[in-house]
Amino acid sequence: MAPDQPADLSQNAIDRVVADALAAFAAAGTSVELKAARLAHAGERSPLALANRSIGTIPGPERKDAGQRLGAARAAVNAALTAREDELGAAELARRLVEERVDVTLPVEVGPQGAPHPITALMDLMGDVFIAMGWEIAEGPEAEAEWLNFDALNTRPDHPARSTTDTLFVEPLASHVLLRTQTSPVQARTMLDREPPIYIVCPGKVYRADEFDATHVPVFHQLEGLCVDRGITLAHLKGTLDHLARSMFGDDIETRMRPHFFPFTEPSAEVDLKCFVCHGASVGNPDAPCRTCRSQGWIEWGGCGVVNPRVLIACGIDPEVYSGFAFGMGIERTLMFRNNAADMRDMVEGDVRFSRSLKGMAR
Ligand SMILES: [Zn+2]
Repeated sequence: MAPDQPADLSQNAIDRVVADALAAFAAAGTSVELKAARLAHAGERSPLALANRSIGTIPGPERKDAGQRLGAARAAVNAALTAREDELGAAELARRLVEERVDVTLPVEVGPQGAPHPITALMDLMGDVFIAMGWEIAEGPEAEAEWLNFDALNTRPDHPARSTTDTLFVEPLASHVLLRTQTSPVQARTMLDREPPIYIVCPGKVYRADEFDATHVPVFHQLEGLCVDRGITLAHLKGTLDHLARSMFGDDIETRMRPHFFPFTEPSAEVDLKCFVCHGASVGNPDAPCRTCRSQGWIEWGGCGVVNPRVLIACGIDPEVYSGFAFGMGIERTLMFRNNAADMRDMVEGDVRFSRSLKGMAR
């Protein structure tokens, strides 16, 4: 029926329209079907809406009756629509509650939990030993000035470590920038920056032009420490290293200092750990050789010494007033000793089985 045609507004006609609408609503089995039925029977183009618009064309007395009939019809249709909407909504909700039921007592599939890499965890753990003693963590750039990496640390220009076969330089060579071969330039930076007393540890990545094999990787991690204060002696160094060793390897561990040479310390020593496999029993005992210490009884852990006065002077500190000690050790090496990680390649290849095997090692 077009809006410009006169509508049949007799009670019979209206009853038919209402009956059609109610039948359509009842037949709609889903809310989508009901929406279509609503558009057809109660929408703007529905017979009832069109009839409503034609009321104005009816002469006076009949108009009132027609209006009342139409009003009652629209009310009936709307009531039926609302009731059906409620019915279907409740039915659909009930069905979804059944279909989407979740059994909260079922075991939950949890994704694998991440964790810090063992190297990172151990580096944090070693740093914590010093933080507990009131030291600070210091950090510096990995691409470092050659002067800070070598000259400030009393390394002569002809020292073999400064060659391109040992050290990775950043091009152009004239920029004198290299990938730091040790974390010691952080110590130099700290001494240049501030006044003693200085108590810092510098954990971080270092680079060497090394082979990649079971005991060498070209990128590895160090922890170095530096203390500069009044009246610092070798005894303070020994006590500090013993404390770190006990924290890392347990109270039974023994250390020893073996004379050595480093340009930045004088006197210098290498610090060894008593072999924790044979406890020295393999020494001079060919019947029970020890692979870990090669029957030496001791294994090398790191280097240390009293800060060379020339380094203090290069960094603007008066060696007549202050003295200090420094030490450093490889994190990978510490992990090897501490957790029986025999092959350094496992530490860089990212196989999660390696990290899992050391899960929780840091605490
Ligand atoms: Zn041994």
